[in-house]
Amino acid sequence: MATIIDGKAFAANLRSEIARKVAILKQQHDLVPGLAVVLVGEDPASQVYVRSKGKQTVEAGMNSYEHRLDAGTSQAELLGLIDRLNADPEVHGILVQLPLPGHIDEEAVINSISVDKDVDGFHLSNVGKLSIGADGIVPCTPLGSLMMLKDHLGDLSGKKAIIVGRSNIVGKPMAALLLKESCTVTIAHSRTQDLPGECREADILVAAVGRPEMIKGDWVKPGATVIDVGINRIDNGEGGTRLVGDVEFDSAAAVAGAITPVPGGVGPMTIACLLYNTLQQACRINDVEVPE
Ligand code: NDP
Repeated sequence: MATIIDGKAFAANLRSEIARKVAILKQQHDLVPGLAVVLVGEDPASQVYVRSKGKQTVEAGMNSYEHRLDAGTSQAELLGLIDRLNADPEVHGILVQLPLPGHIDEEAVINSISVDKDVDGFHLSNVGKLSIGADGIVPCTPLGSLMMLKDHLGDLSGKKAIIVGRSNIVGKPMAALLLKESCTVTIAHSRTQDLPGECREADILVAAVGRPEMIKGDWVKPGATVIDVGINRIDNGEGGTRLVGDVEFDSAAAVAGAITPVPGGVGPMTIACLLYNTLQQACRINDVEVPE
């Protein structure tokens, strides 16, 4: 039976480390990291995320600035707000909650965020830096996944990794990170032939597909480490719903060496890494060392 990688505990630990460093920054440099979160419209899932980001930001001792805009907000108004946040010295991280309403060009908005304040790591400059293996801001979900992998496995060099999913927010940056760690990386997607066979080759399997329990235990190489990024809500058969990942947990856990559960795996790491990125950027923008 696989070791369960406890993302909830890992994230709690990371958040308390961040809070400790924020307290030192405040004391030694009178610097309080600030994260601005912009939400356009009333998408219920986005509202939940934004609330939880704000709460965890404050708990880490940082300043949280929430900007809730009407669904009818124009692109020019949104760009105007981002300009002000880019210029605000109290703001070190800017996150625009996606998806944006259809009349707004997401790419234009993301690329208007100052490269140094792009704590989601979605700006083309940060994407480019990651793709050439340079230091930049790394998207939170892949960063959290990598932290857990390194914590569990140590050196990843030479390991065979497969990432199932090639989205810009998870699959591709995850592949770039693992390549940077000198893994031999396969990126699989909906056109991949013999996906189970490809998965069975991998020492590290990252699932970021968005299909409930698609990856079965007999797709997993014995002893492999499985990171399940998927978050899918399915019928629980009792009139309610439950969350499952992209991996069929029980059958995979019987074969894998280690596995992240859903919920309680990658999910909690995403916001913790957002706080991590905000702390790093507050230090970088103010030219001070991140406290030890
Ligand atoms: P996308 O829908 O953007 O991408 C899904 C990817 O999976 C695509 O590349 C697609 O291939 C591939 N895919 C779809 N069906 C198959 C299939 N049958 N076989 C092989 N590949 C397939 O999803 P995201 O990357 O945004 O998210 C993936 C999952 O991760 C979702 O469940 C999401 O909820 C979750 N998530 C969790 C986060 C967290 O905080 N833990 C954060 C972000 C996402 P193709 O490109 O060919 O269409």
